Amino acid sequence: MEGPRTDRHDRRLPRRALPAVEGPEYLPARLLNEFVYCPRLFFYEWVEGVFAESAGTVAGAPRHEEVEGKADPLPPAPEADDEPIHSRTVGLGSETYKLVARIDIVEGAGGAVSPVDYKRGAPRDGDHGPEAWPADRAQLCAQALILRDNGYTCTEGIVYYNGTNQRVRVVMDNTLAEETLRAVTDARVVATSGRIPPPLVRSPKCPRCPLVSVCLPEKTAASAAAPRVDSGEQLALFPKSG
Ligand code: SF4
Repeated sequence: MEGPRTDRHDRRLPRRALPAVEGPEYLPARLLNEFVYCPRLFFYEWVEGVFAESAGTVAGAPRHEEVEGKADPLPPAPEADDEPIHSRTVGLGSETYKLVARIDIVEGAGGAVSPVDYKRGAPRDGDHGPEAWPADRAQLCAQALILRDNGYTCTEGIVYYNGTNQRVRVVMDNTLAEETLRAVTDARVVATSGRIPPPLVRSPKCPRCPLVSVCLPEKTAASAAAPRVDSGEQLALFPKSG
């Protein structure tokens, strides 16, 4: 699993709740990112509808607003010809993979395009230079799979890290596609299991997680490890009245 890559930390309580997911649905690529980062975080957001805006999200917001404020339509693949494409805030779905995404920028020419995803923070240090974090790679690959399923050729994508102003190229090879689709399957299994995954143990990701104040990973782990005393009675959550 990857280490922390961005400032996800926020001590505020969740600010809004989204509808819970009860069965197979179109999985947003953004939430696949969360699943790869931490399955428990994904469960909170997609199944329990808990969402907290992190300090990092707020810091990255102007950049996203800048992108969103200049939305251009993406020409359908058969009509793309050889014209340059530079479309912003592209919403697309894939029937094949049951994925949806809102892609910051789709750029290219003709039917050959690349998704560009903006991230706050910095890339990780790889053996051969800066690399996209695994969760960001999975999200970008999900976007590429969606573009392919809509008739485009997509062999690479770009993650743009605002913290360092670096464009990091990600090659969309078969290995990444297989890993991404496996993560999609695993995410659905977790979502439909009805059981929230346990917290990460002493993970450097947690201090940057937007839901750390909800998850309380250390207290939760300590509580799970403590011996339980079973009185044999159920808790009276709703005392009888009258
Ligand atoms: S605080 Fe840690 S274990 Fe809890 S959801 Fe966030 S990353 Fe996962």
